[in-house]
Amino acid sequence: MTTHFESGTASRRRWLASLCASAVAVLWRPCSARAQTKSTKKPTAAEPKLEELPPETLDVLAEIRRLAKRAGLKELSTTITPPFVAVGDAPESFRKEALRICRDLSRVYASFFKGRGFEVAVPETTSLVVMTLGSIESFQKYAAAQEGIKVAPGGLLAGFYSVGKNMLVMFDFRADRKNLGANSERANTFSLLHEEMHQLCYNTGLLDRAREIPVVVSEGLGTFAEVWDPFRRGVALGAINKQRLNVLRPLNGGIPEWIPMERLFSTDELFYKEETEQEAYAEAWLFTHLMLRDHRNAEKFRGYLDLLHAPRDMPNRIEDATLHFGDLRKLDIELKRYRDRLALKR
Ligand SMILES: [Zn+2]
Repeated sequence: MTTHFESGTASRRRWLASLCASAVAVLWRPCSARAQTKSTKKPTAAEPKLEELPPETLDVLAEIRRLAKRAGLKELSTTITPPFVAVGDAPESFRKEALRICRDLSRVYASFFKGRGFEVAVPETTSLVVMTLGSIESFQKYAAAQEGIKVAPGGLLAGFYSVGKNMLVMFDFRADRKNLGANSERANTFSLLHEEMHQLCYNTGLLDRAREIPVVVSEGLGTFAEVWDPFRRGVALGAINKQRLNVLRPLNGGIPEWIPMERLFSTDELFYKEETEQEAYAEAWLFTHLMLRDHRNAEKFRGYLDLLHAPRDMPNRIEDATLHFGDLRKLDIELKRYRDRLALKR
């Protein structure tokens, strides 16, 4: 799928609808900083050579190089850690660490979803392209060349996964350390985990890139991985995403307006409007967390995702959701109770 960003809000929404973008800036404040540690794991096998990669992957890399040249980026380098290949102008240490996190997340992801009865399989061929750029300036230039968008410095866009091109693009926030301080490292991880989760969902059989996926589902899964800790061994997915929970249940005691699930399932636009995007992302996370918390709910979620895989003309999103999750007004009540229970634990 090729998308273009022209100008104006409607075009921006169309562009965002074809990508899974992560907007992390508003979440920096409540984040606690964590020092980024270097991987101590030694490679167990020789890195595959670039020319040994599958032709489709080489085509994506060639297209990236063409666009990067047009954007005026300096020479790009690649690092391969099957099934991932990183390309970009970020330093080698950054590329390697990004791929280490992607690989570890893919293992944790497979184990988590298999454990809940989902049939997922991480690709065996090197087909997952991760673009790692060294600075926001490179990101601005590249995003303009590939997607035709203008990324504002200090704006919300932190990276994106292109469903059509099946690649993610992220940049190293640390180059902007003077503005972000220690939070730049947390922002790197947060954005990478969110976007990599999208790539895994679309490449392991959980979601189908050729089908229409309600954004509440794709973004719910993206946010589900945001707070996984890649620096501690043996941690599973499913931690409480406090940043998202805080949007729904602010620490000052106020409770923002709830977007009914019926609207979230039917109206993707809620994720692209400034007035509603934070609540929409947060409720998508809460819904996913509830659906993946135990086997009974996971079964409902599995049935629903199976339905999304089937080729159908004009699917009715509300009927689909009701078929598997029951009366959506009752789901709202259950989610609000779940929100309040989780808020007591934070
Ligand atoms: Zn996303």
